[in-house]
Amino acid sequence: GAKSTLHRRIEHYSREHDERLARNEQMKRAVERALEQNEFVAFYQPKVNVETNSLVGAEALVRWRKEDGSLVPPLEFISMCEKTGLVIELDMAVLEKVLRFLKKNLDDGIECVPVSVNFSRLHLLDDGFIDRVADTIRRYGVPARLIEMELTESAMFDSQEAIASFVESVHEKGLCVAMDDFGSGYSSLNMLKDIPIDVLKIDQGFLRNTEDSDRLAVIFASVAQMAQNLDIDVVVEGVETADNVDLMKRNGCFVAQGYFYARPMSEDEFEPILRKGTL
Ligand code: C2E
Ligand code: MG
Ligand code: MG
Ligand code: MG
Repeated sequence: GAKSTLHRRIEHYSREHDERLARNEQMKRAVERALEQNEFVAFYQPKVNVETNSLVGAEALVRWRKEDGSLVPPLEFISMCEKTGLVIELDMAVLEKVLRFLKKNLDDGIECVPVSVNFSRLHLLDDGFIDRVADTIRRYGVPARLIEMELTESAMFDSQEAIASFVESVHEKGLCVAMDDFGSGYSSLNMLKDIPIDVLKIDQGFLRNTEDSDRLAVIFASVAQMAQNLDIDVVVEGVETADNVDLMKRNGCFVAQGYFYARPMSEDEFEPILRKGTL
């Protein structure tokens, strides 16, 4: 009867739930092991000045390089890492990869561009975080201005005051702060009022499936104007086509990051670009 159907359904759901928990637990152990085995690597995606094609920076994006050589993108493990707190260790591991790479090139006399590192919002809750980052940078002997901290806009729903003082403390250590995915959340403009960020990265969603590029042009021009008046640099994310480049250029945005110029690439692939200073 009805009762037994319901009962079966509950059993079914709770089995699914158990399976999901088991999968998460398995994944968590795999990531912990990967951290120990040093299997996370930084890929680099160039940021380019669209007028000169010169390299003005890069973003470090984590990849999990498994024993068999396969590469796992962050989408498959970041949210689990955030839920379990492992992301703290993961982000620090990426930072260290970047520092080691920069240090090696600085020692070779290369003039390096700044590299931005993504930091989860979880770090904002940790009092010791900024000192830990600064100490790590110092330990590698890399100038702090070569590391930029990317915080995703969705990190910003914590108290504005707390974030503002966080960003000020980061500045005291000599690092710049970028707001990632700008315009994708609900409080972007509100945040700009109080939080002294250095860079805003226009979310790639703006460039996807755009039918009305007149409206988009107005938005780009307005953000560019506002950013300039606030002394904030603008990076356009997800630039995939020549039309995208044209649109941003005509509307006062000059730094692009996207597949049109380059995909995220391994350290070995990026090194010659860093050394040349151009694509
Ligand atoms: P994000 O920080 O907004 O990084 C940009 C993402 O867009 C990257 O995906 C990049 O590969 C992708 N992308 C760049 N240009 C284009 C383009 O022209 N078209 C399209 N369709 N995509 C483009 P990825 O590497 O898969 O990273 C996804 C997200 O994972 C990142 O978004 C960031 O939120 C997070 N993430 C990546 N690395 C780290 C990390 O080391 N720590 C933390 N906490 N999060 C990370
Ligand atoms: Mg980012
Ligand atoms: Mg980004
Ligand atoms: Mg983004």
